[in-house]
Amino acid sequence: MKIFNTMSRSKEEFVPIKPGKVSMYVCGPTVYNLIHIGNARPMIVFDTVRRYFEYKGYKVNYVSNFTDVDDKIIKKALEEGVDSSVISERYIAECKKDMASLNVKPATMHPRATLEIDGMIDMIKTLIDKGYAYVAEDGTVYYSTRKFEGYGKLSHKDLDNMRSGNRDLKVTGADQKQDPLDFVLWKPKKDGEPYWDCPWCKGRPGWHIECSVMSKRYLGPEIDIHAGGEDLIFPHHENEIAQSEAANGVPFAKYWMHNAFLNIDGVKMAKSKGNFFTVRDIIAQYDPQVLRYFMLSSHYRSPLNFSRELMESAKASYERILNCGENLKFLLGKAEGSLTEEEAAQLAEAENYRTQFETAMDDDFNTADAISAVFELVKWINSRVSGASSKEFIEKLDGELHDLTDVCGLIIERDNELEDDLAAYVEERIAERKAAKKARDFAKADAIRDELKAKGIILEDTREGVKWKKA
Ligand code: AMP
Ligand code: ZN
Repeated sequence: MKIFNTMSRSKEEFVPIKPGKVSMYVCGPTVYNLIHIGNARPMIVFDTVRRYFEYKGYKVNYVSNFTDVDDKIIKKALEEGVDSSVISERYIAECKKDMASLNVKPATMHPRATLEIDGMIDMIKTLIDKGYAYVAEDGTVYYSTRKFEGYGKLSHKDLDNMRSGNRDLKVTGADQKQDPLDFVLWKPKKDGEPYWDCPWCKGRPGWHIECSVMSKRYLGPEIDIHAGGEDLIFPHHENEIAQSEAANGVPFAKYWMHNAFLNIDGVKMAKSKGNFFTVRDIIAQYDPQVLRYFMLSSHYRSPLNFSRELMESAKASYERILNCGENLKFLLGKAEGSLTEEEAAQLAEAENYRTQFETAMDDDFNTADAISAVFELVKWINSRVSGASSKEFIEKLDGELHDLTDVCGLIIERDNELEDDLAAYVEERIAERKAAKKARDFAKADAIRDELKAKGIILEDTREGVKWKKA
């Protein structure tokens, strides 16, 4: 199994630190608003990575934080005249709802920055004691990037060039810094801001220190995978490495994974640019599974452009998989018996799609090719399975399809309450139509069919009985 490691800029064989186990830390959102679909990309991508490890039999410890103290949260709290915890609590709850809609599994642990302040103060103390950090006159604590030999090893940036004045850096309080690349570990409070007591000044932590601390606390000083969007490579992840490795004295993460951006018209989707759609906007118009399918239809390291056309195409493709799943369920209700010899031979053929799927996923989680393999399997199933198939054959193929779609986190059953209500209603109408036909009242039977059609439900008379689907 190969993973592209941002650190080495190459695909490397995955070898876990502890056999059979994977420890993963994925940088989570800053919670001051509803998440947009750009934020959903790492959630869906790394949830799928986790699912694939689990499918392979690994036990995955998956930690993803909520940044719940930050300038933007404080600004919003001041605007609403509430405590910043009211804002962060609200949007953590909303974010969890969106994750559930997108079938993103809850992390093993979702730590929050404000509950980990003691750990941050401890790590900052260690960094000062070891000579990696210094306290400025106003009590701000800075990390001294020149002291850390490996600084820049993840982002491969030309640091000398950056030091001599550049545009990548937003230098604030530069006058107190010993070096333009030094960054804040702890900063003094301003009026109206949340703060904590510590040996240097009343204030709050910088953003980077929280992930170093939470990752260590819940996964230990050395982890297998650290992940996030590619905008986090510099400075966030570079700074995390500097903090963690200086404080802990061991390598931080073995593999660094970064997803490319979700763009609109070639430009990164971002709150600050105003060119975003929230997950809520999109799932009001599409099944959340369509959004998940759309995200997985390209490789996570390729930029992905959001457009209605691509969403429509994702919808059509997802529907085909869904219909196949529904069809198998329908046939299973009626089928009987065990595998025939011919079916046993065919099953071996179907296994090729699983192999194709695994080959794609083993190659740095190529979900685009993996989904194509699922698609091929669906085509194969549609052409091989019928009302004459044995129960065992259908069960096996149903299992095969579910195994692969589960890795993608794609639900292929219309099983939510709304769908159940709809299904009950349609089944009732189908029964009425059947009764009408039996009584030779064909006008009524046709009227029921037309009425359902007008409501977007298509009936199909098949040898196995009446089937229905959404138009
Ligand atoms: P933030 O709340 O901005 O810190 O973002 C949370 C996560 O979403 C980080 O991993 C970001 O890299 C990621 N992210 C933000 N915008 C996008 C985007 N347009 N495309 C892909 N990932 C993004
Ligand atoms: Zn982080």
